[in-house]
Amino acid sequence: MLYCKQMEELLFGTGGTPHSSRTASTIDGIKRIAELGLGGMEIEFVRGVKMGEAGARLVAETAAREGVKLSAHGPYFINLNAREPEKIIASQERILQTARIAAICGAESITFHAAFYLGDPPEKTYQTVKKKLAEVINQLKRENNRVWIRPEVMGKPSQFGTIDEVLNLCTELEGVGIGVDFAHWHARRGEFNSYPEFASILQQIKQRLGDQALDDMHIHVSGIAYGKKGEIKHLNLKESDLQYVELLRALKDYQARGLVICESPNLEQDALLLQETYKNL
Ligand SMILES: [Zn+2]
Repeated sequence: MLYCKQMEELLFGTGGTPHSSRTASTIDGIKRIAELGLGGMEIEFVRGVKMGEAGARLVAETAAREGVKLSAHGPYFINLNAREPEKIIASQERILQTARIAAICGAESITFHAAFYLGDPPEKTYQTVKKKLAEVINQLKRENNRVWIRPEVMGKPSQFGTIDEVLNLCTELEGVGIGVDFAHWHARRGEFNSYPEFASILQQIKQRLGDQALDDMHIHVSGIAYGKKGEIKHLNLKESDLQYVELLRALKDYQARGLVICESPNLEQDALLLQETYKNL
């Protein structure tokens, strides 16, 4: 089982515990992921990091035993470009907490929503986010924490996190990795929903970050509803316009490896759909 999974190029999993798990706990979620034949799971700390160190150690043991690759999603209440200095400090603290518990869980990556522009020019926001994130990364370095920090590509024009902004952070800050939410990017731009467009993103990653970035991708996918202000809500893939087959084909052609986290409302159903579709390409 483990051997097979390691041979696969790309692992598929859910954002949070699958609906069909025995309970909503992370441990039951990991066991269910393994039962379903999926490869990974993102632990959702979106309403705060409430897991303790002892619980995280049990999570790590379970994930290792079941052969499930983990990542973690930080709290929603993060804005590294907040007006109030105390809100920035609290945001940095939330990223640190996520990274600390994620590391004990054996997760290799954390992702989070970095900031809002709040009317600032994107370049000014970028400099602020970079500075505040660098402080977080320096602290994690002092703690010998090696979890990849992956600020998410975001779905609304009011949110910091274009593909370029995220790629720039990756090139400028050590320890920052690429995290592409293809649904967000499609919702934000209306376009980026065809093979050539998906391939152009992967090509850009390859050019700017090298092949090793494609070897260790962190991807979010779901169906998505969107309007003029970008993302409205997540949808199941088959109820949305997202051309996921073309996306999977591009990922396969570029030999992308790593973790694809499905954030559709039906979670494991679409994660399995993605995995099956990918395998049959
Ligand atoms: Zn997210």
